[in-house]
Amino acid sequence: MAIKTIGFLSFLFFTACVWAQEIPEREFFRRMDLGEELMNKGEYEAAQKEFIFILENKEVLPSNLAYLFGRNSYHLSLYKQSINWLNKYLQIKGTKGQYYDEAVLYLQYSEDKYLEIQRNLSRQMIDELNNQDYDCGGLEKMICPVCKGSGVVIKHGAFGDTYHTCIYSAGEAFLSCEEYNLFMRGLLEPKISY
Ligand SMILES: [Zn+2]
Repeated sequence: MAIKTIGFLSFLFFTACVWAQEIPEREFFRRMDLGEELMNKGEYEAAQKEFIFILENKEVLPSNLAYLFGRNSYHLSLYKQSINWLNKYLQIKGTKGQYYDEAVLYLQYSEDKYLEIQRNLSRQMIDELNNQDYDCGGLEKMICPVCKGSGVVIKHGAFGDTYHTCIYSAGEAFLSCEEYNLFMRGLLEPKISY
């Protein structure tokens, strides 16, 4: 009886460990550096994979990622996405950001390209261009990338961890494919606010 209980408890413990397994912080920064290196070498598709991994898995996004993802999006001709993320970077860091000059420069490039395309395309073609990016693998719903489907976001503070309802999925596990696309473009507005 006792042995069974211990066996069951260690099973629970093991399950809890697997469940709580988190990607170590340094792994995100390793991938961010790698992404930047790939971008500087002109390997934009490969760089984007690294940046999207961080966007999808990291709870609190480093502000430099907004610059890197925004600039790389320019190289991939995703101009609207580029504009949104570069603006986000400039809003967060102001003129003091490490990448301020580059962010302003690439924001200008993306805005020029975006305007040029708008001048040359019909309304319908613009809509298609803005909606082409993430097909959600044919699914209607995607696990919320902010709370990883848990519905809550854990904030690590000096006095321990606090739990907040995820403001993007409002406590639900999923975002609609449309909302997921808005999130990836930097346009998703929180459903709830504190
Ligand atoms: Zn969520």
